[in-house]
Amino acid sequence: MSLKVGAHVSIAGGVDNAVANQVEVGGNCGQIFTHSPQVWQDPDIDDEEAERFREGTERDMEGPWVIHTSYLVNLCTPKEGLREKSLDSMQAEVDAADKLGIPYVNVHLGAHTGAGVEGGLDNAASVIDDLDVPDGVTILIESDAGAGTKLGGEFEHLAGIIDRTETDIDVCVDTAHAFAAGYDLSTPEAVDETVAEFDDVVGLEHLKYVHLNDSKHECGTNKDEHAHIGEGHIGEAGMERFLNHPDLADAPLALETPTEDGKSFAWNIDRVRELRRD
Ligand SMILES: [Zn+2]
Ligand SMILES: [Zn+2]
Repeated sequence: MSLKVGAHVSIAGGVDNAVANQVEVGGNCGQIFTHSPQVWQDPDIDDEEAERFREGTERDMEGPWVIHTSYLVNLCTPKEGLREKSLDSMQAEVDAADKLGIPYVNVHLGAHTGAGVEGGLDNAASVIDDLDVPDGVTILIESDAGAGTKLGGEFEHLAGIIDRTETDIDVCVDTAHAFAAGYDLSTPEAVDETVAEFDDVVGLEHLKYVHLNDSKHECGTNKDEHAHIGEGHIGEAGMERFLNHPDLADAPLALETPTEDGKSFAWNIDRVRELRRD
């Protein structure tokens, strides 16, 4: 299988621009926001724009796109108002994915804020099962760094939400988050152990996307700050094994590496291609 790798790219000026933005950094798949992720806002995509996005994707992409939902969405919340807003926002995202021909919508479980782990997972499952998810669109639960009462840091939480939903959902592992949550990825042996544990607890058949990021903080710190590939605490040896692990060969990769300190997505995608041996 050919390597599917890309970055989180901008849709400024129209969602169809994401394709050109992805090609420009050397990506052949990747991630977008459909609107500013810091506010409650619905995607605003007209039919022609969607058509151009689909044509461009067909022409220039090899792997799938994924939509990352708003950071305000909290599936685990015990608060009714926030639950309703999260539900409406998620429905708008899965509908936008359907319009754009995007197979995946990536979401964080959010924080249970006092509902407890079991209560939080029950809340999240109930929101997901209240959605009308179009055929051809799958919700991916993203692994979390696990700070505070945020769920998704432990692989057991990912398995717990899969077990609770009637809806078919899958998982996106963010390497920086998993590492911060305590899953070591800094040596070839540690990568093998973490992948085996994921397979044991969640099942590799549920892994549909990877956010490939190095980490500015050490393993188990619960601190979520991404670093350039090979330059963080995961480092080159861990990244090299992750990229060449036989069970991960087909997983599409979206980079969310920093953009403000001189190394671009293009640099990071090149680095991934160098570390991958096929
Ligand atoms: Zn995320
Ligand atoms: Zn991520």
